[in-house]
Amino acid sequence: SLKGKTALVTGSTSGIGLAYARALAAVGVNVVINGFGKPEDIEKERSSIEADFGVTAGYDGADMTKHEQIAAMVEAAAPDILICNAGIQHVSPIEEFPPEKWEAVIAINLSSAFYAMRAAIPIMKARKWGRIVCTASAHSKTASPFKSAYVSAKHGLAGLVKTAALETATDGITVNAISPGYVWTPLVEHQIPDTMKARNMTREQVLHDVLLAGQPTKEFVTSEQVAALAVYLCGDDAKAITGANLSIDGGWTA
Ligand code: NAD
Repeated sequence: SLKGKTALVTGSTSGIGLAYARALAAVGVNVVINGFGKPEDIEKERSSIEADFGVTAGYDGADMTKHEQIAAMVEAAAPDILICNAGIQHVSPIEEFPPEKWEAVIAINLSSAFYAMRAAIPIMKARKWGRIVCTASAHSKTASPFKSAYVSAKHGLAGLVKTAALETATDGITVNAISPGYVWTPLVEHQIPDTMKARNMTREQVLHDVLLAGQPTKEFVTSEQVAALAVYLCGDDAKAITGANLSIDGGWTA
């Protein structure tokens, strides 16, 4: 059972990350959440995890673009379970892509997972048990135009997960990626205006002709479905699953 273990979830003040934290708490895991937002909103989420599930919930505001802050957060939390989930999107043609946006997407979606693993693996090796789950994306397996930084970061993350799995295979540690299709979260909502602009489309056209166009089920994936897969990967039944990149995308990559 996972009861009494500690999970650190990066980027968990909203969306999929918050769903991971709540789903792990629901099976008795103490959690540390991370991410940006209004202090009062974050405190509300943190305290409701404790109230709803009777576990300890902490918050660490480490910035996923700062490797020293990432290492300090991991060392303070000493997690049994590390969920690398923080991510941002930017939608633009390559020739107009702002260099600082490229750097930020690579830092938050890819490099932060490397720095978090780098700090967490020694802690997990010492315990001979650990679980690392990274939120990749259907965009770790396939591309879409105008998302060069995101697609590059997620393909890179898939490679990092495979490498970390091989390096930890005999240490009781598993490392896997979960690759969702479109999940209805603030990240998706916020890219609609830029996609409207980049493709000269209405909001409805973006929803149906772009977002759900490639998702054969024509339904958004839910954060709770993604979180349930992560909880499964953390359990003993999943100890033989390592180095995998599991799709949960309504058939997008089929
Ligand atoms: P979201 O915007 O709701 O959540 C992103 C989280 O990351 C927030 O908690 C935010 O505060 C945090 N964050 C952003 N920049 C940060 C920084 N510099 N330091 C610390 N935290 C930071 O988005 P989401 O849709 O829940 O995305 C979560 C993950 O799922 C991302 O890696 C995303 O790429 C991936 N994903 C999302 C979808 C989707 O359709 N929503 C699909 C596939 C993959």
